[in-house]
Amino acid sequence: ASPRLLGPAEIRDLAELLDVTPTKKLGQNFVHDGNTVRRIVQTAGVQRGETVLEIGPGLGSLTLGLLEAGADVIAVEIDGRLAAQLPHTVTIMQPGTRLTVVHDDALRVTELPGDPVRLVANLPYNVSVPVLLHLLEHFPSLHSGIVMVQAEVGHRLAAGPGSKVYGGPSVKAAWYGSWRIAGQVSRMVFWPVPNVDSVLVGFERGEQPGTEDERRATFAIVDAAFQQRRKMLRQSLSQLLGGTSASAAGVLERAGVDPQSRGEELGVAEFLAIARAAAA
Ligand code: SAM
Repeated sequence: ASPRLLGPAEIRDLAELLDVTPTKKLGQNFVHDGNTVRRIVQTAGVQRGETVLEIGPGLGSLTLGLLEAGADVIAVEIDGRLAAQLPHTVTIMQPGTRLTVVHDDALRVTELPGDPVRLVANLPYNVSVPVLLHLLEHFPSLHSGIVMVQAEVGHRLAAGPGSKVYGGPSVKAAWYGSWRIAGQVSRMVFWPVPNVDSVLVGFERGEQPGTEDERRATFAIVDAAFQQRRKMLRQSLSQLLGGTSASAAGVLERAGVDPQSRGEELGVAEFLAIARAAAA
């Protein structure tokens, strides 16, 4: 029987056919291991008939795994050669399955041909956090997902206050829901082999803690707080909160936050409280 997923031989043949030299700039590392693909699809809990969003399908490794599980896949790929080839690969390897390819930059898409409920992706590493935040902001139908990211980024996304790796991305991710590390992935399953390790990160969307205006204000405060991570909030937020450290301390006190604390000690609820106190 012909294979339903891409192994090393198929990856090599496709890359040769398309004359593709993977680029670092686009984070092009392709998975050539069917077991890894099936593990990701299983971990994601993909249901037959549901619409799944994939970012960066590349040569189609994960796409074929999602289609095999019975998902309707919307795949957004920035590289025109890869986007053009994907429907052909799928027709040959898994005829009769449902794929829509969108040739676009995932950081810019604001409309999709459908309402995906789940995100499953092996994200391009250099833009993984901005892509995640952009998708969560623009596609409220996405209620959960599993993404493969650089290990360092995955641990940051899943970190809580007080952790050494807790930072701006952790707070912003927490705005949208809860995050967890869902597994490790060996760098040997990729071609070319990257020089970093990867993890699977899972998220479940939660109730948004505030309005869209409050989200923007909260994220601006988060950016300022972590730009000067070692400083007390009354200093790092002075420009945003009235111009002096005394005015900032006043806002922080009204928010119930110790002006001498640092951003790394605060959760998303406290950052939101500061944004609300500043707007009041
Ligand atoms: N999903 C494939 C796999 O697992 O083998 C490829 C994953 S590879 C790590 C990342 C993919 O994202 C590449 O195909 C790359 O061209 C694509 N990509 C990079 N930047 C992108 C962007 N801003 N929007 C959409 N796709 C992007």
